[in-house]
Amino acid sequence: MTWLREKTGWLFRRAQDALGGFITAKGIFEAMGGFFADEEQDHKCGVCWMRIPTGEGDRADCTVVNVPGGISLGKGTCNFWDPGEPSKPEDRSQNRASVAEAGYVESPTADYPIWCGTCPKHYRELDEHSGNCLFLMGRVKYKQCCVAYSNPEVKAPV
Ligand code: SF4
Ligand code: SF4
Repeated sequence: MTWLREKTGWLFRRAQDALGGFITAKGIFEAMGGFFADEEQDHKCGVCWMRIPTGEGDRADCTVVNVPGGISLGKGTCNFWDPGEPSKPEDRSQNRASVAEAGYVESPTADYPIWCGTCPKHYRELDEHSGNCLFLMGRVKYKQCCVAYSNPEVKAPV
C-alpha cells in the first residue's frame, strides 16, 4: 500500500499548499485565465505604463482605452492595469477599447485605494495584512487586486 500512502501524501501536500499560502487565490485565478495583480499598491492609472501624461493635472490619455475627457491618474483604473513607466503619445493605439470594454472605473477620491481591502463584495479581513476572497475562495493580501474587483463606490464615469 506504499503507492496509496504516496498518493494521499501528495494530495495532502497539495491541499496544504492550496489552503496555506497567499499564492492560492492567484493560482486559481490564473488557472481560470483571469488577471490577478500581485503588486501591493493602489491599482490606479497613475502608475500604469499605458498612461500618457498630458500635463493637464489629473487627466491623461491612455494607449489602449478611450475615455472621453481623459483617464484620471488619481482615481481611474481598468482591467488592463499594469504598473510601469509612462508611455508616449506616439504609442497610442489606433483602435482603443471603450470604457465598458476595458472596465474603466474611478474611485470616489484619489485617496480611496483600489485593492482587495476595498473590495467589499468579496473581501473578508483576517488580519491587518490579509483576508479571504469569497470570489476566488482563497487567501489574498490586503493590497493585491484582480479584475473581479467589485465596489459600488468605484464606478464608470458618467
Ligand atoms: S485606463 Fe487602464 S490601461 Fe489605461 S492607464 Fe488606466 S489602468 Fe492603465
Ligand atoms: S478581494 Fe476582490 S479584488 Fe481581491 S482578489 Fe478577491 S475579487 Fe479580486
